Amino acid sequence: MSNDNNRSRRKFIQQTAIAGAGLALAEPLQVFAQANNKMAINQNIKSRGYAGKDVAGKMAPWNFERRAVGDNDILIEIKYSGICHSDIHTIKGHWGPQKYPQVPGHEIAGIVTAVGKNVTKFKVGDQAGVGCMVNSCMQCDSCKSGEEHHCEAGGMVGTYGTPEVSSPTGITQGGYANNVVVTEHFAIKIPKNIELKYAAPLLCAGITTYSPMMKVKFKKGDKIGVIGIGGLGHMAVKLAVSKGAEV
Ligand SMILES: [Zn+2]
Ligand SMILES: [Zn+2]
Repeated sequence: MSNDNNRSRRKFIQQTAIAGAGLALAEPLQVFAQANNKMAINQNIKSRGYAGKDVAGKMAPWNFERRAVGDNDILIEIKYSGICHSDIHTIKGHWGPQKYPQVPGHEIAGIVTAVGKNVTKFKVGDQAGVGCMVNSCMQCDSCKSGEEHHCEAGGMVGTYGTPEVSSPTGITQGGYANNVVVTEHFAIKIPKNIELKYAAPLLCAGITTYSPMMKVKFKKGDKIGVIGIGGLGHMAVKLAVSKGAEV
């Protein structure tokens, strides 16, 4: 990573008021309060997040709305959102023109506060996470074989910045916010014995290293080299060590 990139990342993180590896959302969680008072989940959900307004990438508080909680959706009160360098690249338009305001964040960990009537995987109070995608066609061969990220019908719907008709802002909005509405299929159940602050970075950096490492099928005692100890690299080291490899 160049010094310029380092500086840019540090500035971005400072602007987003983040301490340590994750973003603790300290704002009073209005939606949670509403949930406790039998909030209406059949209308748009009020949300508050940090959004980029243009390619400058300066993050600022923003009030917006999420879609109502549909029959297959869950509402998550976000407790932590990790920071991925993709957040910075996307908001700054490095990977193509963006729609703004846009709330980044695809390492989301929180508590389920409402569930749609068809939801079977979650109940209110469960710990849940969301990674880098929130929808796909669910009909094509890739989607049917658990490879939704390779969806052949227009691709997966990214957690932020992807045009989405159901989103009141016209695009998906990510995890630097106090809540998220997501189809249960694209939410991950986080076991109670994992603290949410440790779970959040697993939702992108973790799975991005875990998946290829498991595909390689290394054995206990195998030697593994990791190039670059960054957000992903340190995960690779930890995963390899936990599986008995020599790093
Ligand atoms: Zn990421
Ligand atoms: Zn598909």
